[in-house]
Amino acid sequence: MAHPMFHYDEKLGEAIFDYCRERLSLDPVPLDFGAAVDVADGALRGLICESGTPAEEVLEVFRTHLAPAVVSIDSPGFLAFIPNAPTKNSLLFDMVVACSGLNGTSWLESSGVVVAENQALDFLAGAAGLPEGSGGTFVSGGSLGNLSALTVARDVGRARLGSPTARVRVAMSDDAHSSIGKALHILDVEPFLVTTDDHRFTRAALEAALAADPHPETVIGVAATAGTTNAGIVDDLEGLGAICRERDLWFHVDGAYGGAAMLSASHGHLFEGLRHADSFIVDPHKWLFAPLDCCALLYRDPTVARKVLAQQAGYLDVLHEASDEEYDWNPSDFGIHLSRRARGLPFWFSLCTNGVEAYRSAVQRGIDLATWTAERIASSDHLELVRPAGLSVVLFRRRGWDAARYNAWSQELLSRQIAFVTPTKWEGETVGRLAFLHPDTTEELVTEILDSMRD
Ligand SMILES: *Cc1c(COP(=O)(O)O)cnc(C)c1O
Repeated sequence: MAHPMFHYDEKLGEAIFDYCRERLSLDPVPLDFGAAVDVADGALRGLICESGTPAEEVLEVFRTHLAPAVVSIDSPGFLAFIPNAPTKNSLLFDMVVACSGLNGTSWLESSGVVVAENQALDFLAGAAGLPEGSGGTFVSGGSLGNLSALTVARDVGRARLGSPTARVRVAMSDDAHSSIGKALHILDVEPFLVTTDDHRFTRAALEAALAADPHPETVIGVAATAGTTNAGIVDDLEGLGAICRERDLWFHVDGAYGGAAMLSASHGHLFEGLRHADSFIVDPHKWLFAPLDCCALLYRDPTVARKVLAQQAGYLDVLHEASDEEYDWNPSDFGIHLSRRARGLPFWFSLCTNGVEAYRSAVQRGIDLATWTAERIASSDHLELVRPAGLSVVLFRRRGWDAARYNAWSQELLSRQIAFVTPTKWEGETVGRLAFLHPDTTEELVTEILDSMRD
C-alpha cells in the first residue's frame, strides 16, 4: 500500500489544474494588493495540525486570503522595482518542472536537464560575445550570481598575488547594485569605490582612481553594471573591459536587470564590451520573461570557477569521476549551491518555442515605452525629467512634491488598482520612477499614471 501522502488525488488535481488554467488565461492578471490588504485575522489558524486540513479548504484560504495579498509582479501595471513578466510558455513549462520534481544538480543525475540549460546559456553567452567554451549555470538570482562570481574573482586575484589571504579589493561605483557591496562584505573583500561622472563607471574614472591610490596592486577586479537598477545606466563596458585585459584584472559584469538589452536593436551596441567579461550575470526572471527565480551565471573560463566553487565530499566523489571531461558538467560546480531545481528550463522552453525575434521585440518594447514616456514628461507642465530614459527606466519629478506626497500617490494608485509604482531616491531627492518590462503595458496606462500626478 502506498503511503497516503504519495497517492494522487484526482479531484484535488483537477481543482489545482483549474486554478492554474484560470490564472494562466487571465488577461491581464489582477494587480492585487500586497501589504495594502490585511490577511484576515485567524485565516491561517489551525491549518497545520496532526491530522491535516482538507485540501479544498487550504486552497480556498490561498485563493481568498493569500493571493490578493501579493501584488502581481506579472501585471502590466507593476512598474515598481524591477517587474517580472513570465511568458505563458515559461509558466506552463515551470509546471512541468514542478510536477516532475525535476532535479538539476549534476550531470550524473540530470544530463537531460543540463544539456537543455546549457543550450540556453550558450545562447546568452553568444549574444554577449563571450568566446566558445564559456559556460556556467542558473542560480536563484542576481545576488547569488554576483556572490558566486566574485568568490571566483577573489580567489583568482589572491592566487595572482601569491597568497590565499592577501588583502584584495574590487573596484565598483556607487551605482552598483546593493548585492555587489553585500557580496564583497561576505567575502571579506574591500570595495574600491570609484567616483563617477554622472553615475556611469568609465575607464577614465577607474584609471584616475587607481593612479591616486597608494596600493593599486591590491585591486584585483572590477565589477561593472550593465544597466543600473535605479536608472538603467550601462557602464563603460568597453573601456573597463579593456583596462582589465591590460592589467590582468577580473572583469565581472552585473547585467541582472539590463543585460537583456543586449538583444535590443537600438541599444545593443552599449553591450559590446561584454565580450571582455570574465563573469557575467543576467536574470531571466527580470527582462527575459522567465518566472522567478532564475539568474544566468556565465564564466569565460568555467574550469577556473569549478576549481573554486565545486564542493568536495566522499559521497559526491562519483559526480566528479565521470569518464568524459567534456560532458562532466555539473551545474552544482559553478555557483554557491549544491541541490538545485531545473530552474533554467522554463526560460529554455520559452526561448525555443517563441523564437529569439519575439524576445528582441519584447525587450525593445520596454525601451520604446520608456523613451515615449520620457518625451511625454519632458513636454508636460507639472512634471520634469530627472535624466533621459535609461534602457527601460524613467526617473522624473513632480514639481512641488515631497517624499510623503509621492508615497501617498503610490498607495492611492495601488488601492485604486491602477498600477504599482514606487518612488526612489536620486541624489538625495525623492523622485518618481517607472520601470517598464511587460510588453503589454500601454501608453494609455502611462498617461493615466502621469495625469494622476496633477493634483
Ligand atoms: C535585481 C538586481 C540584482 C539582484 O538580483 P536578484 O535576482 O534580485 O537577487 C543585482 N544586480 C542588479 C543590477 C539588479 O538589477
